[in-house]
Amino acid sequence: MGDEERKILVVGGGMSGMSVAVEAAEAGTATVIVEKNPYLGGRVALLNQYFPKLCPPFCGLEINFRRIKQNPKIQFHTLAEVESITGEPGNYQVTVKINPRYVNDNCTACGKCAEACQTEIPNPVNYGMDKIKAAYLPHVMAFPFKYVLAPEIIGTDEAKKCAEACAYGAVDLDMQPTTVTYNVGAVVWATGWDPYDATKVDYLGLGQVPNVITSVMFERLAAASGPTGGKIVRPSDGKEVNSVAFVQCAGSRDENHLPYCSGVCCLASLKQATYIREQAPESKAYIYYIDVRAMGKYEDFYTKVDADENVTLVKSKIARISPDPESGGVLVEGEDVGKGDRVKQVVDLAVLAVGMVPGTAGVKPPLEMEYDDFGFVTSSGASGIIPAGCVKAPMEVAASIQDSTAAALKAIQSTLGR
Ligand SMILES: Cc1cc2nc3c(=O)[nH]c(=O)nc-3n(C[C@H](O)[C@H](O)[C@H](O)COP(=O)(O)OP(=O)(O)OC[C@H]3O[C@@H](n4cnc5c(N)ncnc54)[C@H](O)[C@@H]3O)c2cc1C
Ligand code: SF4
Ligand code: SF4
Repeated sequence: MGDEERKILVVGGGMSGMSVAVEAAEAGTATVIVEKNPYLGGRVALLNQYFPKLCPPFCGLEINFRRIKQNPKIQFHTLAEVESITGEPGNYQVTVKINPRYVNDNCTACGKCAEACQTEIPNPVNYGMDKIKAAYLPHVMAFPFKYVLAPEIIGTDEAKKCAEACAYGAVDLDMQPTTVTYNVGAVVWATGWDPYDATKVDYLGLGQVPNVITSVMFERLAAASGPTGGKIVRPSDGKEVNSVAFVQCAGSRDENHLPYCSGVCCLASLKQATYIREQAPESKAYIYYIDVRAMGKYEDFYTKVDADENVTLVKSKIARISPDPESGGVLVEGEDVGKGDRVKQVVDLAVLAVGMVPGTAGVKPPLEMEYDDFGFVTSSGASGIIPAGCVKAPMEVAASIQDSTAAALKAIQSTLGR
């Protein structure tokens, strides 16, 4: 086959998709990443720290960004989605729609367009906790490191002001959506996960009770690039947080919501307990769990966090979270299963550990794949359409990378007609 036909197209530029692309390209097969966000890195780019080492996620991401930048065999499109796929194993035609960024490669990320722009939009990376100018850098470590103009201001005077403010000719208001068709040997589907919508678990108060947030929001609240510059404060009044209740299985392992265990949210809450303990030395963290899932190499991490006397793990079922008018915080109530007693704890902030829903749970991709009852992809990849990472099952980063390396090998074999 010619080089053009042997390409692999990877849908989703998170940790899994990037891993597939770099592994396959470094083994000699050209790859194209198609990512719907204006940046690569997926949900990992929005974490504050990684468990178990508690290092910033950019250590791992930076390495992959560098491997992508340096390898001419890797191409990527942001703000892009697959429109159609036809063909057969070893020979697929994939049509990709690329939406306009309205900013070209001349962008130096100087920020002058944002200064000139008055319109604000909900910040796409901060789960509605703050607003951002409609000319924006997606986040401080964004790759590519280029601004974006929100479609909302295109055709308005605001957009013209942004263009006038740019000394580099980087704002291009005439950009239009474009379509590209690739002839590839294999397609890897790595569109990851979304947090479960915990407003559906009404007794936990999300969206009704101030100072109840989700675990993904808490990651942003603790991050230096987040809505408060990394200061963990109560959303209702900006007061410093001194006590947090982490409520596990918020909708998970529940027939009415997500019957399965997401595997990583116990570890995520243990990690997040260290965020608050680190920030406020007298602070208290309470983790209300059904079971603690911290298997194999992660058990040491659990033991370490559990050894902190200001972190209390309570085997329990939380039945209600309501406002506590006296403290301005929340009252967490339920059953302490271990002691056979009641849980009644007032805290500044409640964090719901939400489960992971596959990106394929809602709208299905334009290709033949098999799914389980919850939308996770179960296809083996034998057909040349290969799933990778959290779109197959909830996984932490290490497992996602391992799974993606296997997917890269399958994809290479598929391009060779094996
Ligand atoms: C609260 C929380 C904390 C966590 N903390 C840790 C941690 O500390 N350490 C750890 O190891 N793991 C952690 N995880 C797990 C980690 O987030 C996942 O392992 C990781 O995100 C998996 O990467 P992925 O590429 O499979 O999915 P994602 O990160 O979801 O990436 C998927 C990518 O595909 C893109 N995409 C989606 N649909 C389309 C489409 N139709 N077309 C094009 N692109 C598309 C998305 O925009 C995204 O960029 C945590 C999870 C949670 C819930
Ligand atoms: S688009 Fe122009 S003004 Fe805006 S950040 Fe880029 S270079 Fe600066
Ligand atoms: S990992 Fe923990 S919090 Fe998440 S669903 Fe499983 S038991 Fe519940």
